[in-house]
Amino acid sequence: MDLGIRGKRALVCASSKGLGLGCAEALAAAGVDLVMNARGAPALEAAADDLRTRFGVEVETHACDVTDADARAGLIAKAQDVDILVTNAGGPPPGLWSDWDREDFIAALDANMLTPIDLMKALMPAMIARGWGRVVNITSQSVKAPIAVLGLSNSARAGLTGYVAGTSRQVAGQGVTINNLLPGIHATDRADSLDAGVAEARGITLAEARAQRAATIPAGRYGSREEFGAACAFLCSQHAGFIVGQNILLDGGATNMTI
Ligand code: NAP
Repeated sequence: MDLGIRGKRALVCASSKGLGLGCAEALAAAGVDLVMNARGAPALEAAADDLRTRFGVEVETHACDVTDADARAGLIAKAQDVDILVTNAGGPPPGLWSDWDREDFIAALDANMLTPIDLMKALMPAMIARGWGRVVNITSQSVKAPIAVLGLSNSARAGLTGYVAGTSRQVAGQGVTINNLLPGIHATDRADSLDAGVAEARGITLAEARAQRAATIPAGRYGSREEFGAACAFLCSQHAGFIVGQNILLDGGATNMTI
């Protein structure tokens, strides 16, 4: 399917690896020029080179911590005229409800709620001025069904979800759509580190921890970054202009719910 976005320009945050890279890759395959971001420059430059070579698109890079307001200002300056924004960052650490104090919540809110809000506020006015824009926020399946040990993530992502629910309705009439993609377990470094923690806690191998987790997913496997990226690219396409303010689960059926 031609996504109809060849020649558009996108900022994809946290995109040297994992789900962010999957989104950058699928947008590049659709002919979209990119601004890519991650903290570590070597992996970021390698990923950018790979996409330039494979898809012939223009790729700019900006290595910084997207959750740091001062550093983010430089990224926003480089991405000022983008048509597409994909927000993403690492998730907060796991723990127990009694572990977390105010500073932990402020850090989580800053990273996983206020950073995407700041990016939308900075980059949507130019989209609105042109009458066309797409925003996709990478959140988590925990928005639909909380993961108890990820209380910081549950809280921050719920806040972002509430903001998107209202804001998406305010900008839809100006040609800009905002939607959230909710990953379940995907085969990325993040999943590896979660599985390594489980393996250590249960005294089992990493392969056993993965197999046990995969068995809890109706699809019987982890998702891939390519599948995730394809869903993101569709939401950014010309065909998705009537999809507004949605929270779309990509979890292989893991979240047991009717609607
Ligand atoms: P990942 O494989 O660990 O990749 C993270 C990517 O983001 C890397 O390119 C990393 O590069 C970059 N990054 C991380 N923190 C950053 C920051 N502060 N500023 C800029 N770049 C940053 O993670 P993932 O699995 O793709 O997960 C992406 C998001 O989805 C996370 O918020 C995660 O909590 C959520 N999620 C993932 C899953 C899953 O199964 N994978 C499930 C539910 C939710 P640098 O380290 O060089 O910065």
